[in-house]
Amino acid sequence: MHYVFITGGVASSLGKGIASAAIATLLKSRNFKVRIRKLDPYLNVDPGTMSPYQHGEVYVTDDGAETDLDLGHYERFTNQSAKKSDSISSGKIYSNVLNKERKGDYLGATIQVIPHVTNEIKDFINSDLNKEDIVIYEIGGTVGDIESLPFLEAIRQIRNDRNTSSALIHMTYIPYLSSAGELKTKPTQHSVKELLNAGIQPDIIMCRSERPIDKDSISKISLFCNVKQDSVIPALNAKSIYEVPSLYSKYGLDEILLKHLKYNPKNYSLNLNPWKKLLNKIDSQKFTVIIGVVGKYTNLKDSYKSLNEALIHGGIQNSTKVEIKWINAEKLNSKNVKDLLKNCNGILVPGGFGLRGIGGKIEAIKYSRLNNIPFFGICLGMQLAVIEIARNLLKIKSANSSEFKSTSKSVVGLMTEWVKGNKIEKRNINSDKGGTMRLGSYKAKLKKNTKIYSIYKKNEIFERHRHRYEVNTKYIKRFNDKGFIFSGMSPDGILPEVLESKNHPWFIGVQFHPELKSRPLSPHPLFVSFIKSCLK
Ligand code: GLN
Repeated sequence: MHYVFITGGVASSLGKGIASAAIATLLKSRNFKVRIRKLDPYLNVDPGTMSPYQHGEVYVTDDGAETDLDLGHYERFTNQSAKKSDSISSGKIYSNVLNKERKGDYLGATIQVIPHVTNEIKDFINSDLNKEDIVIYEIGGTVGDIESLPFLEAIRQIRNDRNTSSALIHMTYIPYLSSAGELKTKPTQHSVKELLNAGIQPDIIMCRSERPIDKDSISKISLFCNVKQDSVIPALNAKSIYEVPSLYSKYGLDEILLKHLKYNPKNYSLNLNPWKKLLNKIDSQKFTVIIGVVGKYTNLKDSYKSLNEALIHGGIQNSTKVEIKWINAEKLNSKNVKDLLKNCNGILVPGGFGLRGIGGKIEAIKYSRLNNIPFFGICLGMQLAVIEIARNLLKIKSANSSEFKSTSKSVVGLMTEWVKGNKIEKRNINSDKGGTMRLGSYKAKLKKNTKIYSIYKKNEIFERHRHRYEVNTKYIKRFNDKGFIFSGMSPDGILPEVLESKNHPWFIGVQFHPELKSRPLSPHPLFVSFIKSCLK
């Protein structure tokens, strides 16, 4: 078993997650059994309770973990499903340590960062492995942050252990100073010093840069950072993120990494054909559609990372370039709805939480329903479609979700009980907020002769969920009478999973998050079908 650690320096948001995923792709494309995991330095136990503005999207795994959005990149690039045990935060590490202390596991000892916290990190790194050839660990944050120190110390100790083979890749940023007309390597030198302070010498330095990196800069980095020239790898911007693996390979990253791990790259040939085919498809797109995404966190694209990618995947399959028009729901109202949405070929209302922006999203749904524009509602988007139809078509004027208002006409209400495996989960209004939603993969049954059935072509599906509220089944019949059917239900028939219109070209709301399972090499059928209908 070999470990690869990936740290970041100089600045955040360098795309370290995509880089790590691309490295995993390269190794997988050489037939290695690869696993990729994330260590996050923040003190939240998981990102589940953080605003997307803090942290980007919360990515949900099949086994119900709320994790960092980088796990989404890992899945999309490696085509492998991540697990709960593929990510951890300082908060979780500390909470494990404190629980052990209370249980008396360390009786007699003073609990300290070294060795107790660092041992907990090392235990995580070595835990739950499954005979992988290479396991990649991406360390969140930037070297030099106080919170990341224990992680660096744990990595130092692991690398110091003679029985482990590992490589450390440090990703930095090389800024261009236009006044000097030069790329500057000093920030990189300083961030490598930070690593050295922690007792870690990187093996490979990856340099993010907006401009090609000249030979002189490479030599300088090599000299000052004590890394061989062939291990200083430019990481330049790509046309599409799916081009990143081939770009890195062009600079020899995979070969050099394998050499650091004492493999002979010649014995493991690289096959990037599926990715090359994908890039060809992207280059030869014939059509364009504009999709209006009406959401609350539209200022930060990372808030809807998987959605953004899933729409692109759906487009690739249809030879179509998808342009997303991000529309701030709080700025949309009955007066400007037409202006804002008139050139959209499709409208999507994504998941979300809380009251803000609800009015705008409901207006957008009404507009797409009345104007026969393809509509896709995801989780909150589906719940709001239910509210819109209840108010405007069933004439239940005070119809609402109990998430926003307590009313006797809650067409969407708090989920108090559901079946998970062979257990019944129970919640009430006072339950903790962290990790208590209906999370992860659940089965849904699809009704025959419905649009959703024709899309999935099967009657049982597994999709990932993340919600606390559910559609109230009391109103199902009244919806049916108006041509709206719940064409997917939980296996016990209690939780509506899919809403569709019988009379509209494409009006579908789903309680789950299909975007989490879409991958560039296997796009999600719902997104493929949605984009196809938007093309018409
Ligand atoms: N806020 C809604 C709920 O908890 C929808 C959640 C979501 O869109 N992920 O059910």
